Amino acid sequence: MDNSNKTTSPKIVQVAVPRPVHQAFDYRIPDRYDMPKLGTRVKVSFGQSSLIGVVIGTQGDSARKLKSIEEVLDSEPVLDEELMRLAAWMSRYYHHPIGEVHATMLPIGARAGKPLKSKDLVLWQAVVSADHKIKLARAPKQQKLYLALAKHGPLTGKEAQEFDGNTTLLKALERKGLAQTKVHSPNYQLTSERLELSEEQEIAVEGIIRSLNSFTVHLLEGITGSGKTEVYLRAMAETLARGLQALILVPEIGLAPQTVKRVRERFGEAAMIHSATSPSHRFNTWNNTKTGKHRILIGTRSALFTPFQKLGLIIVDEEHDTSFKQTEGLRYSARDVAIVRGQILGIPVVLGSATPSFESILNAERRRFKKLHLSHRPGTAALPTYKVQDIRGLRLEGGLSQPLINAIDNHLKKNSQVLIFVNRRGYSRTLFCTHCGWQASCSDCDANLTLHQQPEKLQCHQCSRSYEIPSTCAACGKSQLLRLGVGTQRLEDTLKRLFPNVPVFRVDRDAVRTPAKLESVFDNLSRATPGILLGTQMLAKGHHLPNVTLVGIVDADNGFLSTDFRAAEQTAQLIVQVAGRAGRAERRGEVWVQTYNPTNPNLKALIHSGYRGFYSTEIEKRRAAGFPPFGTMAIIRAESLDENAPLKFVRHILNGVKEKGVEAIGPVPAPLKRRQKHFRYQGLLLSDHRSTLHKALQLIRNQKVPAGIRWSIDVDPIDTR
Ligand code: ADP
Ligand code: ZN
Ligand code: ZN
Repeated sequence: MDNSNKTTSPKIVQVAVPRPVHQAFDYRIPDRYDMPKLGTRVKVSFGQSSLIGVVIGTQGDSARKLKSIEEVLDSEPVLDEELMRLAAWMSRYYHHPIGEVHATMLPIGARAGKPLKSKDLVLWQAVVSADHKIKLARAPKQQKLYLALAKHGPLTGKEAQEFDGNTTLLKALERKGLAQTKVHSPNYQLTSERLELSEEQEIAVEGIIRSLNSFTVHLLEGITGSGKTEVYLRAMAETLARGLQALILVPEIGLAPQTVKRVRERFGEAAMIHSATSPSHRFNTWNNTKTGKHRILIGTRSALFTPFQKLGLIIVDEEHDTSFKQTEGLRYSARDVAIVRGQILGIPVVLGSATPSFESILNAERRRFKKLHLSHRPGTAALPTYKVQDIRGLRLEGGLSQPLINAIDNHLKKNSQVLIFVNRRGYSRTLFCTHCGWQASCSDCDANLTLHQQPEKLQCHQCSRSYEIPSTCAACGKSQLLRLGVGTQRLEDTLKRLFPNVPVFRVDRDAVRTPAKLESVFDNLSRATPGILLGTQMLAKGHHLPNVTLVGIVDADNGFLSTDFRAAEQTAQLIVQVAGRAGRAERRGEVWVQTYNPTNPNLKALIHSGYRGFYSTEIEKRRAAGFPPFGTMAIIRAESLDENAPLKFVRHILNGVKEKGVEAIGPVPAPLKRRQKHFRYQGLLLSDHRSTLHKALQLIRNQKVPAGIRWSIDVDPIDTR
């Protein structure tokens, strides 16, 4: 039938574009297209450019003259109804433009308008074989690759390069019957032994399973090594058995490999997304999760926006970890958004931690979350004992006091392992002139430079800019320069000098750049008894180090002395998490905390009555100040090359909302007042009522912004920096 002459009413849609505007725009759909569904991508002309936007509405005022859409890119939505609702919630809650929220949620390829057909990635996996040693005896490269596949697989050809592999080597393994391209098997089988659950684990698993069809948030508070992961695995088994999918969020890639390994051992599969995943691999995983081919997805915060065919359970492991908060662009908390996603879907969300955030503890006390407890470690593993080492007046050797050095020596003599924690990478904190007091500082930031060795340089940890190390003072010209303060590199030198026959492994962002590298460090460490492991907070994350019997915390003071309202909470979490690495096997661990401040009430509470004891005292300060988790908070930050502009801008904003019932504090300079040549100012908004705060933020977000100013709204900030 020819109906080309028929006049139909014009098709109009609202399109959200990735631009900093809080509104959608109407466009006409050309006749050659059907009406697109909500959540599909369209290409539109916007100002001078062509943008990829998402359809968020399908009615409009057809009387107006409107531009036509250039192209409809999808026949099916890229963001399904559930994710569209999640996007709308984030846009409202974080006061972030809806088009930019969509862009954050989509994988890079989809953002750029690429078609959503996934190229099938070829994934390689090892074929288990008893005679691989013989078959590979003369092929060391193949052997290395085979072991890597067995351990880290399945891998793409590109990922195999991390282990010095390539397609030729993979094919050689295939010919020997030792590798195959992955065949997806829909049946999972339990491959690791079944442990008998403790009574507490049993209760936790049952509690989660009972809620599988409804929105419930469980706070699984279990001391380090108490078997939280085992609880996740059991709850997942039931989820999968009901034909549902599971999502596990982990804070950082460094933590993911061990969790992925355990999940794969149990279920024979687990897809993974993290910040180092290549865009094409991510895109593929995104699609396969959407179609239900992947039943389990493990990833860092952005994995939260993956579409699922039938998601049944969300787990947020180490829920207290600040890396769940994105601190640029859309400043969202993946933990909080995970809860909203669970609510939209009507499914349970499990938050697990040994040191829950104050927010979550309070939510559990107010019965918004269900409490699940694991209060002891399985078997004979005991919690470590603490020793506070007062270092006032003591001579330190590369940051270590003599009593701590003696303790290290004792543990090493018993063929144990020792973990030394210092939260600064590099060699020394700063370069200091003992003649005039000058300190090497960054010319673009208000920050001291950290001294690094191999390669030798001064580096700004704020902007990453590097400088050559001067041999004389830049201020007075004398050559009395002192390397002040201890970083990981200096500790490594010191420990190697003190214990020349013991292997020392260093873990920080300079030494360990990939999850695979981290795993190989832990691998080598597991065979080194005695051995020393030293590093930054990368070590605080969930690794099992069964041979570690002594943990030394070189400097516990910084965090407890900081003025930031969350610093004490984060420091306590860090100490408990690092301490939790010790004594996981039969041998009881010891934790040494060096401090210039042994009477600090926070430290005392933590040592004498544990994390919960610390919580009870610290939470009262928050209550008194009306700070989160009691009051709600947002920070307005502004920066500019010109010092006055951001100050005036923030002042103007704060004045505008003072009448609205929110407490406005500031403007004040940011703790780092200048970064990358920009002057930074901020203002704090506080209210007892979230709705009041949101009304104020609605006014604020439509501010006219003077040229040259970058600014942001941060709702529920994780710090006031
Ligand atoms: P968490 O996640 O709380 O740090 P894990 O689940 O990793 O703890 O468990 C710590 C160790 O205890 C692991 O080696 C695990 O295999 C073991 N484990 C967990 N549950 C049990 C159990 N019920 N019986 C014996 N061992 C257990
Ligand atoms: Zn000088
Ligand atoms: Zn800098």
